[in-house]
Amino acid sequence: ATRIRRRIEKGRRWFSCEFFPRAPRRPLFARGRPLFCDVTWHPAGNPAGDSPTSSTSVASAMLNYCGIDTVLHLTCVGQTEARLVRVLDRAKSLGLKNILALRGDLPEDADGNPGGASAAASGGPAFASDLVRLIRRRYGSFFCIGVAGYPAGHPEAASYAEDLRRLKEKVDAGGEFIITQLFFESAEFLRFVSDCRRGYQSLRHIVKLSKLTVPDSMLRVIEPIRDNDEAIRNYGIAQCTQMCQELLQSGQVHGIHFYTLNRDAATIRILKNIGLWREDLPRPLPWQPSANYERCAEAVRPV
Ligand code: FAD
Repeated sequence: ATRIRRRIEKGRRWFSCEFFPRAPRRPLFARGRPLFCDVTWHPAGNPAGDSPTSSTSVASAMLNYCGIDTVLHLTCVGQTEARLVRVLDRAKSLGLKNILALRGDLPEDADGNPGGASAAASGGPAFASDLVRLIRRRYGSFFCIGVAGYPAGHPEAASYAEDLRRLKEKVDAGGEFIITQLFFESAEFLRFVSDCRRGYQSLRHIVKLSKLTVPDSMLRVIEPIRDNDEAIRNYGIAQCTQMCQELLQSGQVHGIHFYTLNRDAATIRILKNIGLWREDLPRPLPWQPSANYERCAEAVRPV
């Protein structure tokens, strides 16, 4: 396994894909040579964290069986330090080296607003930056740590500028790469990238931003075809292909991370459209079980 920071080389194009932990289908993606795949974290679904379909097991199976570099998501809200360390110890023992350090969503109060229960009630890290610090304190530079960024600002943040300042805190604490929230317009993402590079100081004037909104131009197209699955799928693929092309042609972006929602076919079509799907390259690993296979065999059924 490699720490993916080293592989996000400037100037070389790449793609990566997010999955939620449900086997199988991972071997299909190995063929297209992603830079990495990441596996989402769902604390409520698997409190013990060690079942064959837990995020850790699935990430380990992708790495150790399919030869795909993986990033394990980990949320800290409501968790004790001891429990987080148990998860991280297990991840380390399975060969995982990349962690996306997240706070996680807060429980909702009676009115549906986030923050119903105290985030720090567990005594563990309250924010993602605290989790990054915990990982650095306990594991030094063993893990390559990623953090989340929000091109439209995080919905709970007082302002876009404030959220950028919090993002910088995560990077200062040891975050080495940023995966952003999904977005609908390339321009929004490109503005975010240049704001991050310019620094938050100049952003005080920017208006408060809240939750993700689907642009009106997109809603106008979707409305008349909302009941036609194929038309919606084709529109999504065409729209996403165009966004990817705009981003890659901007010269500011070299890699693109896909929220696949476990829909392989649409993602693969987009990757083929933009020329990032590389079946012609040799496979990363001979397809043989590694030493860790025993522990993760249940999580992946080879195809
Ligand atoms: P933080 O960076 O801690 O920020 C949360 C809020 O607190 C922000 O508004 C920030 O501005 C503010 N803040 C930060 N530090 C401070 C401070 N010191 N004082 C006051 N305010 C502060 N959720 C899951 O449950 N599982 C997943 O696998 C998962 N994967 C994700 C992947 C990506 C790429 C993204 C973008 C999100 C993901 N999420 C996931 C959702 C995420 O957990 C939520 O968006 C959550 O609300 C915020 O997490 P965070 O790590 O960005 O939090």
